[in-house]
Amino acid sequence: MHNVVIVGSGCAGNTAAVYAARANLKPLVVSGYDAGGQLSITSEVENFPGFPEGINGPHLVENIRKQAERFGAEYVHGAVEEADLSARPFRLKIEGEWKEARTVIIATGASARWLGLPNEQRLIGHGVSSCATCDGFFYRGKKIMVTGGGDSAMEEANFLTRFGSEVALVHRRDSFRASKIMIDRAKANPKIKFLLNTVVEDIYDVKQATVTGVKLRNVATGEVWEQDVDGFFVAIGHIPNTKPFRGQIDTDEDGYIVSHGGARTNIPGVFHAGDVQDRIYRQAITAAGAGCMAAIEVERLLEAEGH
Ligand code: NAP
Repeated sequence: MHNVVIVGSGCAGNTAAVYAARANLKPLVVSGYDAGGQLSITSEVENFPGFPEGINGPHLVENIRKQAERFGAEYVHGAVEEADLSARPFRLKIEGEWKEARTVIIATGASARWLGLPNEQRLIGHGVSSCATCDGFFYRGKKIMVTGGGDSAMEEANFLTRFGSEVALVHRRDSFRASKIMIDRAKANPKIKFLLNTVVEDIYDVKQATVTGVKLRNVATGEVWEQDVDGFFVAIGHIPNTKPFRGQIDTDEDGYIVSHGGARTNIPGVFHAGDVQDRIYRQAITAAGAGCMAAIEVERLLEAEGH
């Protein structure tokens, strides 16, 4: 029987593990197939407090894991395949084996949705990004392209005009899903050029290990052309990783966990941390803070129950 099983090993899960381990709870962390979460696909992190020179994303998340292990956190590779949260102890199926837990912290994150182009995956961290807040700074005076037609795309395009010499916003249709105020703001920004009815067919240049341009196609006219680009930002939404918990944990229409105050979910003893609940801030530092909150809630609950 585990005191706490932490599902996910990104910034939120690993920070929860540091706190839970230092509270002598011997947490079990299920690392997930994408151990390290979003930070593991980020290059340089310059906005995590405490690192004046910046820190490499995978290095940062690995350091938090080592910190948790130093205090006794145990990590298992793999993912939660099924969960039975109907009664305590909770039961989680991990790599075919059921484990029991007094409490659970869900820190499974939200994965960025990608276009699915082969070169896109190879160039993530080398000019392809899903986070303007994280990576915009690297494109000062450079040509930037954003793809998407929702609020995120509008927000990212606007934000990126602080850095880029120009920002092209590519969207597959001629109308936007984004809210009117966000569209109006983007349209009023002289640095943003709209490419509507346009899809991205390829991203170059894997050989140089950096983004140099894209191939575009206008779906209305069939015209195909290439355009020079230094930074390519994909803003086509995120997918919260809540599948094994659906139907038990309250989620909103997009699958994000609905908070019941602090780090609490609708099930007493099951807590959330990080991007799996947060569709707004999505930062390493906010995820770390959320992991801390969840671990403190676990500690207090177990203490009150006499464990
Ligand atoms: P979203 O609203 O789901 O929009 C995703 C956009 O990406 C859509 O325009 C969609 O095109 C496009 N898209 C999806 N798959 C694509 C593909 N394979 N190829 C090309 N384009 C693709 O996602 P979001 O913008 O991340 O917003 C998510 C939620 O957060 C929304 O509720 C939003 O209001 C909220 N949000 C709010 C703010 C704010 O208020 N400041 C900021 C960011 C996000 P189609 O339209 O053609 O389907």
